[in-house]
Amino acid sequence: MKKQVAVLPGDGIGQEVMNGALEVLRAIEDQYGHQFKVVQADIGGVAIDHHGTPLPKETLEACKRSDAALLGAVGGPKWNEVPVELRPEKGLLGIRKELGLFGNLRPVKTFEALVDASPLKPNVVEGVDFIIVRELTGGLYFGEPRERRGKNKEVAVDTLQYEKKEIENVVRKAFEIASGRRKKLTSVDKANVLESSRMWREVVDQMAPEYPDVEVEHLLVDAAAMKLIYQPKHFDVIVTENMFGDILSDEASMLTGSLGMLPSASLREDDFGLYEPVHGSAPDIAGKGQANPLGMILSVAMMLRHSFGMEEEADSVEAAVEAVLSSGARTGDLSGQEIGPVLKTKEMTDLVVEHLKPNHAISGILAAYL
Ligand code: NAD
Repeated sequence: MKKQVAVLPGDGIGQEVMNGALEVLRAIEDQYGHQFKVVQADIGGVAIDHHGTPLPKETLEACKRSDAALLGAVGGPKWNEVPVELRPEKGLLGIRKELGLFGNLRPVKTFEALVDASPLKPNVVEGVDFIIVRELTGGLYFGEPRERRGKNKEVAVDTLQYEKKEIENVVRKAFEIASGRRKKLTSVDKANVLESSRMWREVVDQMAPEYPDVEVEHLLVDAAAMKLIYQPKHFDVIVTENMFGDILSDEASMLTGSLGMLPSASLREDDFGLYEPVHGSAPDIAGKGQANPLGMILSVAMMLRHSFGMEEEADSVEAAVEAVLSSGARTGDLSGQEIGPVLKTKEMTDLVVEHLKPNHAISGILAAYL
């Protein structure tokens, strides 16, 4: 199969983890006879430096011409002082909006080998496997007006607005995902207070009869935040609006032990998707070669599955990550247990790539790092 991938490394550790993603892509090409044409473009701070804007039109065009896009991360202290409309994060919000990526999927799955890396008790996190489907292009982060008012600008206004259609798009995506999993959908809102949440609940209830095999429950966001910690195995698919999803998915990331482990996909109705790790540009470790590349590599697996329909290839990447972790390999963010050498980004990537080969020998490579 031939596919074109827009590659947007971005800032900080974005470039470092993207190198790992590209190596994995090459290994999949070799093993399965595919051809992935890579088109690289700037986004975020590096785009401000090169083009004066966090989202150059060349970058958008590269994405529009491609079958999928991979993104590293954007932002960093270098751009803290630029005007707010030029901030690197605007590139991220802009690309999601411009490409119509209304649904963000964040799988939260604990790897057996990392159960002890979570701050929660092993019996709570063992076997956790759910997906958060977050609405991505509406709600409080996009509503207008957003402004400071009053003589001394002592009043700040943001607007939480949803159109029914926006809710329908993401809720349908969530029902479809739940149909292909354990058939349980938890819709999270704040319907006891917010009008937009009451409409959200209506949409979920109206759509539910179309998916009779999916069990639906409604949870208020505060209760959901609690349940994620004391009973995370309760969940299969969670669907929620933009800001609630933003907060709950970072909370959920701690179940897996490290932000560096989590992939994500931003999708729309057709097969195109933007795939990126959940973490940011990590300025504190950028340039040191210490970043965990696995969240980015697992994002490649999501791209293979959701945009290219390459189930077997996606499974093989996920199995390689699982095997490498089981062998004891750890990057610094996962190294609390002191069970092996602490690997650099490139070393961890090499192990995953090696595992993708037939007759691999990761134990030999790992021994060489000791
Ligand atoms: P961050 O995710 O960059 O870092 C939080 C902590 O996690 C840091 O200690 C970092 O070292 C660690 N960490 C993150 N990813 C890691 C990895 N792969 N391996 C090892 N450790 C990792 O969040 P932050 O520090 O709040 O934000 C830094 C910058 O990133 C800010 O400019 C922020 O706006 C931006 N940001 C971008 C995105 C994105 O591009 N999607 C997401 C979040 C934050």
